[in-house]
Amino acid sequence: MSYPGPVDQKTTQQRLSLGWQSVLDLVFPRSCRGCEQPLSQTAPRTGLQAWFCQPCLDHLDPIQAPYCDCCGESFSGPMTRAFLCSNCDGRRLAFDFAVAGYKAQGPMRELIHRFKYGKDISLRAVLAAALEAGLKDPRLAQADLSEWLLVPVPLHYFRQIKRGFNQSWELCRMLHETTGIPIAPILRRTRQTSTQASLHRKQRLENLRGVFALRWSFPWSSPIVLEGKKILLVDDVLTTGATAHECAKVLKREAGAEKVVVITTARG
Ligand SMILES: [Zn+2]
Ligand SMILES: [Zn+2]
Repeated sequence: MSYPGPVDQKTTQQRLSLGWQSVLDLVFPRSCRGCEQPLSQTAPRTGLQAWFCQPCLDHLDPIQAPYCDCCGESFSGPMTRAFLCSNCDGRRLAFDFAVAGYKAQGPMRELIHRFKYGKDISLRAVLAAALEAGLKDPRLAQADLSEWLLVPVPLHYFRQIKRGFNQSWELCRMLHETTGIPIAPILRRTRQTSTQASLHRKQRLENLRGVFALRWSFPWSSPIVLEGKKILLVDDVLTTGATAHECAKVLKREAGAEKVVVITTARG
């Protein structure tokens, strides 16, 4: 009797899943998250092409080299050596460096606005797909990310209740699903602050001083130790880096993290 050999279960599951997705497409056709035009049934299922039509994709502005070695702000024109932008030069930022998928302009800026202020949580998947472009940065692409932890930037309790979710936590969840990197929600906010978007750089720094702290681990009520751990601090947008700096300060000085790299969907 001949042995039929092992069933390729993964492929079978993928085929079934594709079948279901095609049925779902007929009932709920996919549309572009930028212009609402229907997407072709043959559009890819992963990455940004699963969410945007080609003309909208063409309007996105990916972060490409050359960019600031610290905050990831990109510059046009040739640059032959590593450099720091005027925002970072002479400033001692607590995080090691920051990467982002796209510039916070055009459809990307609009999506983030709809996600956060329009409370459209369904956009978390497309924004996480955009954030994942940041993982292609050579400094991360060469790292063994299985040794890392994802840390969300916490929202104050009242703001989270008002919004219904924490955008950073939602992006962490999506990133965990695709990369398997564990999430460690170890930061908390000690007080509510005014929205950073309306403040200048100096005011942002003052607004945030001492606002983040470590959560205590129950039932022992001791601070969490991250001695020697590498952290990916996840957020939707990085603008001046003030929030990321304050979070990284706590993660390194109080929890002993070895490295903190900031990853965001967009660079403001
Ligand atoms: Zn479109
Ligand atoms: Zn910079």
